Amino acid sequence: SDSHFPIPISPAHVDFSLHFPKFIEANNKISKKIEFADIGCGFGGLLISLATLFPETLMIGMELRDKVTEYVKERILALRRTSLEGHYENISVVRTNSMKYIPNYFEKGQLSKMFFLFPDPHFKEKNHRRRVISNHLLDEYAYVLRAGGIIYTITDVEELGEWMKSCLEKHPMFESLTQEELDSDPVVELLCNATEEGQKVARNGGQTYRAIFRRIAYAS
Ligand code: SAM
Repeated sequence: SDSHFPIPISPAHVDFSLHFPKFIEANNKISKKIEFADIGCGFGGLLISLATLFPETLMIGMELRDKVTEYVKERILALRRTSLEGHYENISVVRTNSMKYIPNYFEKGQLSKMFFLFPDPHFKEKNHRRRVISNHLLDEYAYVLRAGGIIYTITDVEELGEWMKSCLEKHPMFESLTQEELDSDPVVELLCNATEEGQKVARNGGQTYRAIFRRIAYAS
């Protein structure tokens, strides 16, 4: 339950120096803010791929399951120890319930990318409120994303794919990326290739459904 993990009362109360020791300056402050958040990061495959693609960007995975979070922590520490180029210092993970505590971790307009990759489908109608994409949670994501920031969603469950897309289409603060923009974004192909869940779907020859939207500056 929530009582088993610490909950920062505001983003200023999160001690990220423990997460990103190589990005700490002499005054003991972190030199930059986290920009990417992988929500429900599972085993961390996406973060690990993004780490070398954006070596100067700080990113965090948020994961509810304790053992999975510990696994990702160990995985990152091992990569840091063995990387000859000094990579993987820019990624970390926290155990938290992202459906409750996103604003406790990020300030308004702080993030430039948020990922929701293969989230749990919660099929029954009475459980739709447990889905990580919903109209009211999109308000929170729009708050922590900067204008121009991108939200990436993917699933192998058609019904959930339609749900996430329709929530994003209906929300006044998001607009769909064009095909041209999707084709030129190197992150898009990682959604399937880099995640453990995406690799599983690909092995089984399954189909995937994406919805990738931009946080706009103003609602018209
Ligand atoms: N994104 C990963 C991938 O694509 O390989 C993992 C997908 S897995 C099917 C969904 C993950 O979301 C699980 O690891 C689960 O523990 C996590 N999760 C579910 N609800 C969550 C919540 N409220 N906050 C944080 N993580 C959550």
